[in-house]
Amino acid sequence: MRIVLLGAPGAGKGTQAKKLVDKYKIPQISTGDLLRAAVAAGTALGKEAKACMDRGELVSDSIVLGMVEERLKQEDCKNGFILDGFPRNTSQAEALDRMLANLNMPLTCALSVDVPFEDLMKRLTGRRTCKACGQMYNVYFNPSQKGNSCDKCGGELFQRDDDKEETIKKRLDVYNAQTAPLFDYYGKKGILKSVSGTGSIDEIFDNVCKVLGLK
Ligand code: AMP
Repeated sequence: MRIVLLGAPGAGKGTQAKKLVDKYKIPQISTGDLLRAAVAAGTALGKEAKACMDRGELVSDSIVLGMVEERLKQEDCKNGFILDGFPRNTSQAEALDRMLANLNMPLTCALSVDVPFEDLMKRLTGRRTCKACGQMYNVYFNPSQKGNSCDKCGGELFQRDDDKEETIKKRLDVYNAQTAPLFDYYGKKGILKSVSGTGSIDEIFDNVCKVLGLK
């Protein structure tokens, strides 16, 4: 199973990817997570990426492609992978196809998680993540029972820098302009599938598994 997850910021791609990881033991490759780790580690690449991320713009293709290629070559990707937040534009999608052709691992499916545009703002402004284990919450729809601490591990919850209202608008504009054309790209290749991203996390996951033909 080699999947690209498509969907707007806030559609729940990361949440569904984590559930696929737990159940099917294939790795999630989130370029956003890789970039945030580079920023936190203070690497040169992280410093270069941070300004774009804070503005809600895309980081340069050269940075992202290098990171993804390195990750895809690791042993744990041999049995499949879930790309989350990548590709984000047509040139990344074309580069990914070339990369996967070289590795002899073509994509199985591009799965879009569809959420009405008007719901995305609340999902993003309400989003909180555990610093320790990465578990995600939403203060409106799925709050932690322990307030600002994680239900699972007690870690501190934080709001991503780019989940502030000003930046969110920009990210959604960038998504519409640069990422939405990928529906057409994968549609033409005949590998586009979609699920509704509205409902409970488990309901959505059931549909994800159904659409992917998983048990
Ligand atoms: P995400 O966690 O996927 O919402 O990504 C957070 C931010 O990281 C985005 O707003 C971009 O600035 C950057 N980013 C993540 N993935 C990519 C990508 N594939 N290409 C360019 N920039 C990215």
